[in-house]
Amino acid sequence: MVIKKNTKETLTAAEIKEIKKQLEELKADAEKRLKEKKDMDMPEAEVGDPIDAASQSLDKEILFELSGNSHNTIGQIEAALRKIEKGIYGRCELCRQPIPKKRIKALPFARYCVHCQTSSESNLG
Ligand SMILES: [Zn+2]
Repeated sequence: MVIKKNTKETLTAAEIKEIKKQLEELKADAEKRLKEKKDMDMPEAEVGDPIDAASQSLDKEILFELSGNSHNTIGQIEAALRKIEKGIYGRCELCRQPIPKKRIKALPFARYCVHCQTSSESNLG
């Protein structure tokens, strides 16, 4: 039996399962890196004051996303995993449009479509 490939951008259950596995691996890797980083003399931002940390991290979030900050990456991976659980994975958080499969495969924890991601980047100046 030949199953014709779904040409739509919608992710199939099998694809989501594969992505979930990938995300879990990425998370384990990011956690490992974060631990290694903590062993060096590069302290992460204090997490003792969530309100302060939140106000400081809002604009930096995208920068961290680009620089591959391990701590932030873990947060994004966890958010992506939660979205899979909720069945809302694969959509842009800003415009709610499906994120193209190609982008998801390249960046499984992508939160935005290319368009919104690019807009965020240019907003940073
Ligand atoms: Zn978007």
